[in-house]
Amino acid sequence: MIEIVSAPETTVEIIEPASATQWTPDSWRSRPIAQAIDYADQLALEQTCSQLRKLPPLVLPYQIENARQQLYQVAKGNAFIIQGGDCAESFYDVQHDIIRSKVTLLAYQSQILAAALGKPIIRIGRIAGQYAKPRSQMFERLPTGETIHAFRGHNVNSENPENREPDPQRLQLGYFYAAATLNTITQVEKELSRSVINTKAQHSLYTSHEILHLPYESALTTGVYNTSATFVWLGERTRQLDGAHVEYARGLRNPIGIKIGPTATPAAVVALLDTLSQNRDHYGKISLITRLGWGKVHSTLPRIIRAVQLSGHVPIWICDPCHANTVSTTCGRKTRILNAMLGELKETYVAHRRLGSHLGGIHLEQTGENVTECFDEVHVVEPADLGSSYRSLCDPRLSAIQAIDLVKGFAAFVKE
Ligand code: PEP
Ligand code: MN
Repeated sequence: MIEIVSAPETTVEIIEPASATQWTPDSWRSRPIAQAIDYADQLALEQTCSQLRKLPPLVLPYQIENARQQLYQVAKGNAFIIQGGDCAESFYDVQHDIIRSKVTLLAYQSQILAAALGKPIIRIGRIAGQYAKPRSQMFERLPTGETIHAFRGHNVNSENPENREPDPQRLQLGYFYAAATLNTITQVEKELSRSVINTKAQHSLYTSHEILHLPYESALTTGVYNTSATFVWLGERTRQLDGAHVEYARGLRNPIGIKIGPTATPAAVVALLDTLSQNRDHYGKISLITRLGWGKVHSTLPRIIRAVQLSGHVPIWICDPCHANTVSTTCGRKTRILNAMLGELKETYVAHRRLGSHLGGIHLEQTGENVTECFDEVHVVEPADLGSSYRSLCDPRLSAIQAIDLVKGFAAFVKE
């Protein structure tokens, strides 16, 4: 259903929105499910999901509505988002000090951004539920010749090669780990509001994760609210227009992010907006999280921005300078270079300014700890330096110092 039409300034390809049948928290089940988890025991999965349905919400509808109101201000250009946390959160990291350092990091970053931009900063963690991962390969072959499931996040299986069978019981664990994390976030925020980092005047930290595991997400959906997180996003690998994930996200009141990679066409982006935000006055309902790669922004992003502007939608534009700047070392370790990430942030900021659009936020994979997973020019310089504290379960995270330096570099660029 692709039609070419002529618009006054440019030629725009139009893709019709996905057909709008009656939405329910389970209407996604009739669509193709990308990245589905292959459970051996479907009955056990269903039993776990019935248990989950009875558990209390982790986030209440009024909190989701508050977030929607604040994100409306971001879409208007009156506020800015810092969103950050692990690629894959670990059950083992549900510890007070580790959570505290993540919350503190986001608070520092928001202070730096507030000073540079002169706007309120909305903090969103990739936290309290970022436990399911998409993978480019579903299976892994061991040196022994045995084939095992790829690691899919702690809600699904263990990172340990001996324990890779997807286990539905983990979904319940994930719910309780998320609840414990949320409780700790609340405690830490109270503590911070009495200390030098003054978060008193700010809203509380919002939680977010990728809505990858639809049986889990729909089990925690009450009416039009996904009560497992405030903000949820569709990944680059699960944003097919006619797919299950887009159908699931379509009916939610939660703010929705969509990852936009270098292969996304302007028409595909507009079609996603038409499908997920049928009412064009829903400012800030959708965040387009672009992850295009340093050096590739100017050849891809302007056409997307232009098409979105012509469509009449007013999404939030967030830049994820992580996922298209991942490289592998010769030893096969995934890493990122801080300078490349800053490069994509700057290019993205400039591309928006040139078109009268505005960047509304930054999305980062980071941790409050002193890890050595990404390169910078001071602390982690040689490939051997990566070895000393590489602990990520999935993609490389910025250490606290690197994450602050990156935000400072962006802040300095904006103030120039
Ligand atoms: C992620 O955010 O960890 C991720 C997998 O990103 P993307 O969907 O953009 O590749
Ligand atoms: Mn990642």
